[in-house]
Amino acid sequence: MLEIKDLHASVEDKEILKGLNLEVKAGEVHAIMGPNGAGKSTLASIVAGKEEYEVTEGSILLDGEDIEDLAAEERAHKGVFLSFQYPVEIPGVTVTNFMKTAINETRKAQGLEEMPAKDMLKKIREKSELLDIDRKFLSRSLNQGFSGGEKKRNEIFQMAMMEPKLAILDETDSGLDIDALRIVANGVNKLKSKDNAVIVITHYQRLLDYIVPDYVHVLYDGKIVKSGTKELALQLEEKGYDWIKEEINA
Ligand code: ADP
Ligand code: MG
Ligand code: MG
Repeated sequence: MLEIKDLHASVEDKEILKGLNLEVKAGEVHAIMGPNGAGKSTLASIVAGKEEYEVTEGSILLDGEDIEDLAAEERAHKGVFLSFQYPVEIPGVTVTNFMKTAINETRKAQGLEEMPAKDMLKKIREKSELLDIDRKFLSRSLNQGFSGGEKKRNEIFQMAMMEPKLAILDETDSGLDIDALRIVANGVNKLKSKDNAVIVITHYQRLLDYIVPDYVHVLYDGKIVKSGTKELALQLEEKGYDWIKEEINA
């Protein structure tokens, strides 16, 4: 589904990604871990198509198609979903209405009619039940006064509604408590299917107590320097990143 080959990317002429390779197949959950400043959020932004990053070498293929020239919006329409790290507050726009608009805009871009109100309501009901989200939450103003957990709930609800092919969740927020981690993890576990893939970026091994990733990668200094299974996350929790640094320099 996603194939990243020898990706080099810069921001303001500073090279951040330095030859990164990653392959993600449908049905897989990948965790990307790594120390602060390694380039994890940069990777997420680049796959999603944010414009401040310049790809200088390498390629990003989505279902075999080079997406380098596609704008963020076009990538979203192809099913790439990036969670919002710093969600905006929109007073007067409810969680539900925001979602309705987002879905209909996507459909429009795909040349489809608006989703009939009845279908929309059904979808909202199904997804909110699946994720244990109550009605009161759905009629609140977007992000206004949301707790950390509620922000996560909204993010997971958005993911459920958009039904992305590739979801990238960048969990950098150091304020995440266990409840919030659980909301994210339950959401990922419930939404994963054989047709989609999820990349979870985190420096908290704890998140992986609840999500069982198929692969764990360590992103260090702009490259994926080590890949493994959940065991690798446990090793990182125990030993930190220094041993990886030593391995690289050896
Ligand atoms: P991580 O998410 O792994 O902590 P980031 O991808 O956020 O790391 O950042 C990697 C490096 O790139 C850091 O040195 C950071 O300061 C720099 N960087 C990222 N985004 C920008 C930007 N928009 N402008 C300038 N520097 C940036
Ligand atoms: Mg980050
Ligand atoms: Mg290229």
